[in-house]
Amino acid sequence: MSIHDAIQVLARDLEGNLTGPGDPGWDEARQAWNLAVDQQPVAVVTAASVRDVQTVLRVGGAAGLRVAAQSTGHNASPMGDLTGTILLRLSELRGVRIDPSRRVALVEGGAQWADVTSAAAEHGLAALAGSSGDVGVAGYTLGGGVSWLARSHGLALNHVRAFEVVTADAEVRGVEAEHHPDLFWALRGGGGSFAVVTAIEFALFPIREVYAGALFFPLERAREVMNAWARWTGTVPDEVTSLGRLIRFPEIPELPPELSGKAFSVVEVATTLDPIAADDLLAPLRALGPADDTMAMIPVEQLDQLNMDPPAPVPIHADGWLQAELDAGAIEAVLSVAGPGVDSPLLTVDLRHLGGALTPGGGDGAIDGLPGAFLGFAIGVTPVPPAVPPVRAAVSALLEAVSPWRPEGMYLNFAEQPSDVSSFFDAATWARLREVKAAYDPHDLIRSNHPVPPL
Ligand SMILES: Cc1cc2nc3c(=O)[nH]c(=O)nc-3n(C[C@H](O)[C@H](O)[C@H](O)COP(=O)(O)OP(=O)(O)OC[C@H]3O[C@@H](n4cnc5c(N)ncnc54)[C@H](O)[C@@H]3O)c2cc1C
Repeated sequence: MSIHDAIQVLARDLEGNLTGPGDPGWDEARQAWNLAVDQQPVAVVTAASVRDVQTVLRVGGAAGLRVAAQSTGHNASPMGDLTGTILLRLSELRGVRIDPSRRVALVEGGAQWADVTSAAAEHGLAALAGSSGDVGVAGYTLGGGVSWLARSHGLALNHVRAFEVVTADAEVRGVEAEHHPDLFWALRGGGGSFAVVTAIEFALFPIREVYAGALFFPLERAREVMNAWARWTGTVPDEVTSLGRLIRFPEIPELPPELSGKAFSVVEVATTLDPIAADDLLAPLRALGPADDTMAMIPVEQLDQLNMDPPAPVPIHADGWLQAELDAGAIEAVLSVAGPGVDSPLLTVDLRHLGGALTPGGGDGAIDGLPGAFLGFAIGVTPVPPAVPPVRAAVSALLEAVSPWRPEGMYLNFAEQPSDVSSFFDAATWARLREVKAAYDPHDLIRSNHPVPPL
């Protein structure tokens, strides 16, 4: 089938929207959450049904095109410009059903975390959601899923009960431990190369409130604060998940005056411990005398405000890394690029504490935890082209500076640049992922941001 004929068939058969270059709404249709990414697919389909997903895979395959599923475009950057590819947006498939008796959520393939956390909270239940409410459940879960409850509950993917997917042959399949166990294994950690996910069922937890907040210190105190926080992480139980960061807020009217244009070293904490026990644990950090301390009991669904992530799409250049340990030398390496006295273009450099239930072992997906003790992520905002080179240089310099402390492996969801994906996995896992890809998508129809090629 020619590309021209494929577009005609899609226009005839789809229930959802088909947008091509030059059509009204083209720029909006092809736009990712990361506004810096310039996606130029052959066409954009916004699916209105599972049948639409089947149609796109059937017609795209027949025309020799590729198909890239995207829920939000939070991790669109590694995918490139999408030449020869239909961009399949799941963003209209956001249905959420909560079954309180079984404590599970059944969500459609384009659901975002805020859709789930608010619905679950109505039943006193919590999901292992990401730090931003507008991150897609599917993309997040296929790569791992590090939540504010991660050290007590592990990666989100360990709690998936079942997927509904459309495979490259356009068949709808129920995927769980007993049905397509090889695909069930690969979907939990191998990313989006294997099938288009149209629904996920996963466990929820009976948590209504958490004790959470941030201790703000002036950026000038970053050395003292980051060292104290890193030592403190070695003393806390698994019920405590925390993050240490260096953040430079832009001077913009949308921010409150106490943040706008100011720079901080921040420790963010979320815990299911009661506040009295948590306050005991927090004493050494509070003894440093934070300029502000927002710790409070909050409804669990409000955890998506804790990290102060951008509330709407933004143009960014970012990348992440795993950190084996955070000793004084490693902290100096981070400070040398983004610490006080450095004219850094980075909005934020975050280090999340890992370990606890995130420690690998005992699960049955392609990954079941993350190696290393910390997970780093650096972001710079790039609203205009001249902003790109300094941010790119700062992110590269940071990755170079921390390289002596990086363990083997990588967290797929925090890899924001085109990467050698084989280096994310051990050799046996990589070989098995490629076998599963060959079994379900031998012609590499499905294009993901972190591709696993068929064997
Ligand atoms: C501001 C910000 C905050 C973040 N916070 C966290 C966090 O707290 N914890 C964490 O672990 N990660 C976090 N992330 C990383 C996030 O998990 C990844 O960016 C993830 O890929 C986002 O998934 P998405 O569906 O929103 O993005 P997309 O860019 O839409 O998807 C990424 C990839 O996932 C695959 N995919 C998406 N949907 C489907 C589908 N329905 N079927 C098949 N494949 C699909 C595709 O291969 C796609 O290329 C954050 C990222 C950002 C930018």
